[in-house]
Amino acid sequence: MHEASIALSVLEIAIDNCRKAGYNKIESIRLKIGRASGIMIDALLFAFNAVKADTIAAEASVIIDEVPVSGLCSSCGKDFVTEEKYILCCPECSNTSFNIKTGRELEIIDMEVS
Ligand SMILES: [Zn+2]
Repeated sequence: MHEASIALSVLEIAIDNCRKAGYNKIESIRLKIGRASGIMIDALLFAFNAVKADTIAAEASVIIDEVPVSGLCSSCGKDFVTEEKYILCCPECSNTSFNIKTGRELEIIDMEVS
């Protein structure tokens, strides 16, 4: 499962950052996840709950900021944002030539430690 390996690497990075900062407990982790990243948030949270057991993040909650997909159309020049997971064409002019600007993120934005 894709989400299990992502959960594990998020956990490892979080633990590493926490230890480097001289703390030994993670209270919460805030993640930024783009809608076009292909990550299923429910599956990720489920996987995270499984991998965090018996670590310094055992009681950590995960907060997820979902980033909508947005892009810039090369044809009409419009910036657009969509609620969809995928963009097949520009919502303004239906041209298929555009650049995705946001929606593929996967990063830890911040953490609370103690
Ligand atoms: Zn357009």
